[in-house]
Amino acid sequence: MKVLFATSEIAPWVKTGGLGDVAAALPQALVAAGAELRVLVPGYPPLRAAFPKAKRIARFDTLGGAWPACNLLEAQRSDGVPFWLLDCPELFDRPGSPYLGPEGIDWLDNHLRYGLLSRVAARLASHASPLDWRPDILHCHDWQTALAPYYLRLYEGGGAASVLTIHNLAFQGVFPATVLTELGLGAADWHIDGVEYYGTLSFLKAGLRHADALTTVSPTYAREIQTETEGMGLQGLLQTRADELTGILNGIDTAVWNPATDTLLSKNYDRAHLDGKAVCKAALQAQVGLDARKDCPLFGVVSRLTAQKGLDLVSDIGAALVDLPAQLVVLGSGDKALEAAFRDLAATYPQQVAVTIGFDEALAHRIEAGADLFLMPSRFEPCGLNQMYSLAYGTPPLVRATGGLADTVVNCSPAGLADGSANGFVCQEATAELILATARWAAEVWADKKRWRQLQKNAMAGDYSWTGPAQRYLQLYRSLRPA
Ligand code: ADP
Repeated sequence: MKVLFATSEIAPWVKTGGLGDVAAALPQALVAAGAELRVLVPGYPPLRAAFPKAKRIARFDTLGGAWPACNLLEAQRSDGVPFWLLDCPELFDRPGSPYLGPEGIDWLDNHLRYGLLSRVAARLASHASPLDWRPDILHCHDWQTALAPYYLRLYEGGGAASVLTIHNLAFQGVFPATVLTELGLGAADWHIDGVEYYGTLSFLKAGLRHADALTTVSPTYAREIQTETEGMGLQGLLQTRADELTGILNGIDTAVWNPATDTLLSKNYDRAHLDGKAVCKAALQAQVGLDARKDCPLFGVVSRLTAQKGLDLVSDIGAALVDLPAQLVVLGSGDKALEAAFRDLAATYPQQVAVTIGFDEALAHRIEAGADLFLMPSRFEPCGLNQMYSLAYGTPPLVRATGGLADTVVNCSPAGLADGSANGFVCQEATAELILATARWAAEVWADKKRWRQLQKNAMAGDYSWTGPAQRYLQLYRSLRPA
């Protein structure tokens, strides 16, 4: 099975969210499962710097639209997965975030930048590819490569079967109608079954309409996006494609997120030797300046601070959480009002609340290990990684029943504890009252050391690796291109 994996992000070089992590880990897991892969990604400065010896394997002078000529370079990642870097300095040689300029506003030519990525992906997956290596499957991700399945249909004789994975439906790649010709498209493409979307041009809509198969990153999110509340305007189209839409849960990188080997922790621990976790808690309390209390649970948060994550509700109940009693450690950045609210909370309760505004990979690991519970009451969550890190670290997460959170966390009900399935705490609605009530219940369970150990062991027994998800993707590929 040959797969061309087209992505606009790849960790550790270019990452703004879950897609970057998936693009780093899933190809490796697919190769381990027997697939042959090429990862196509823009030649952003960090990637050009990481692979200075990348060799040119193709050149594209005329692709139809308003694009400059560009080159395709080949490089090898240390794990042997070949990268194809789309080298076009006019479009990709820019500092900072892949999508935003220095003012924090989208680059004005993002349609050209990701239109080119989509166009080249389609060409390489088509019978018109200049290369001998031809994929069976073109696997695209989010709006940035969603135009590729549409372009692929325009090539005579077609080519690979296409799969489009939705990591977050909120970003739809919507541009004014005037960009149509710059993307090498014309009047024939401007209709409801083409690229038109309520008078604008949407990359994502075109991909959702034309990819042979659609996936998203959890089974529950796959159902939710077909509803009016979660479909972000695309629910009608997604309903018509329900038969081709599946949810495949993400995995986590277990080489990086494993409490038994994590070098960032004060003491390693595993499911059979949980004592090291108390050392991690004390070290975390000391690092962030909290009192070294052992008599109350420590709740942790590592997150973008946005309404999506429900953390405004956590800040609303901050005083009541402290009163449980409990401690709270927060790491995150984003919404300025929310940053200020958490800072105020820490100023009011310095012994019980510690807030770090910023992005800090090492502290994120120490919170996952040192906290007793992890708070993630998202309003929507396509998959979520942090709750899986928490489970792997024996830090039961408190989540809202949505998307991937609903698919990974089993509520600590008496029945769930008795049958060994409970691994965290689930509240049904994202309201301050319910989150607080659930936190109170969690604090009660925490105080019962025997029950708590059991819950931690249940959490740590789960398999959160990429092995299972990679098999499911392979099955999907095979259903589209039987051998
Ligand atoms: P999303 O992609 O919606 O932001 P996920 O839970 O899927 O949420 O993934 C978030 C990733 O970013 C995780 O790897 C998490 O640890 C990391 N992260 C988020 N905020 C921070 C931060 N302030 N410092 C360190 N890591 C962070």
